[in-house]
Amino acid sequence: MSRAMVALTAAALLSIGGAARADNAKGFDWEELTREATSLLSDYIQINTSNPPGNELPAAKLLKEKFLRDGIPAAVFEPSPGRGVIAARLRGIGKKRKALVLLSHMDVVPANPKDWSVPPFSGEVKGGELWGRGALDDKGPGVVALMAMLAIKRARILLDRDVVFIATGDEEVGGEDGAGWVVQHQTNLYKDAGFVLNEGGGIRADKAGHVFYSVAITEKSPLWLRLTASGPTGHAAAPPAQTAVTRLVAALHKLDDYQPPFRVMPVVQDYFRRLAILDSNQPKLLDLRLALTDPQFAKKFVSSPHDNAMVRDTITPTVINAGYRTNIIPSTASAEIDCRLLPDEDPAVFIKSLRQLINDDSIKIERLLSFPTMASPERSELMNAIVTLSRRKDNGAPVIPAMLTGFNDSHYFRQRGLVAYGFVPIRFSAQSGLLVHGANERIEIKALREGIERMVELLRIMGGQ
Ligand SMILES: [Zn+2]
Repeated sequence: MSRAMVALTAAALLSIGGAARADNAKGFDWEELTREATSLLSDYIQINTSNPPGNELPAAKLLKEKFLRDGIPAAVFEPSPGRGVIAARLRGIGKKRKALVLLSHMDVVPANPKDWSVPPFSGEVKGGELWGRGALDDKGPGVVALMAMLAIKRARILLDRDVVFIATGDEEVGGEDGAGWVVQHQTNLYKDAGFVLNEGGGIRADKAGHVFYSVAITEKSPLWLRLTASGPTGHAAAPPAQTAVTRLVAALHKLDDYQPPFRVMPVVQDYFRRLAILDSNQPKLLDLRLALTDPQFAKKFVSSPHDNAMVRDTITPTVINAGYRTNIIPSTASAEIDCRLLPDEDPAVFIKSLRQLINDDSIKIERLLSFPTMASPERSELMNAIVTLSRRKDNGAPVIPAMLTGFNDSHYFRQRGLVAYGFVPIRFSAQSGLLVHGANERIEIKALREGIERMVELLRIMGGQ
């Protein structure tokens, strides 16, 4: 049969179906959608968008072409040479309800091929999984959002709100050339939107296997600092009592010894309480604030790096620079420190307390990155939709608002008055936390498929269906 005849037959079938069928004439071909998603994600991963430098433009063009082939209008922007943003809009009927933005980022963190068992930018499919940097963070979730929009369009479903796809660059280093640029220079993309769905949460299971939806409503605030010590330079054979290096080491030692106090934010208290209700083996988590006053419990609790970061500010030295010859005392030594503050912490007050702790005026402290965090309300139309999704797709698994220990681009949109949640409707395995930013990042094809199915359902719920 020729292509023309196939098209004619399909058109004839549609018209026979009448108005009701024309409304929703086609179902969803999940097999085909998954096959397409797998191939698109593989191509997407093969475009190396390691940041720095990012180089997201070719990735933005790839996604744009995919939308255009299905007749969804899409455009690419170039915030600065080589950097890319892509936006696409699936129109709904009417303009009464606020649009939903599906946000993801195209840039990835660098990958060292030596640590990987497949080349990190191969996009290889092996053992039912798609391998490559970005499979989970955040190219996989981006493809899930894109394919869900295509699925809705192909099924001829008209939602009663617009869905806007935005994929940015530069997220991994703060988003200035990505989401930061979008909110400032492309207000048209989101001015009719009320909601943003971004990375940062998802479907997980606790140790006992109870499934829950984690929805990030806020994040800790990053405060990146550079400490620079100075001192006399000279021959290392006859050293003075103190040098730039010894001063820096002493300062780092004090920071290392310091344990910031516990402060359990309401969202964190509630998060653990909800987990305790799910798993009756953890009764102490019902009141975490109280539980942490017990030194034995506290010691055990903070032995988990994630749980520790949920209840206090953290101070992590990462980059150290000094000297170039073993026998020459350098005049400066510096360290970069990644501090993550609880949402109610004032960075200026925090820096002041670090100064007091270090107690060495010759050490200069500079801010490299710092922005305040904001929270979105727990109750919203979008949260209701996520609860409905859980009921329809995951037996009513509890939906638990959470705080992220890391940051993402949600804050840019919250600052513009949008409700932004970190929630990807993918079931993440226990090991996926280690794979994000780590070696052998990969996603199960099955998780990709179910992610698209859930995202389609979520769009239908948000679209009044
Ligand atoms: Zn990410």
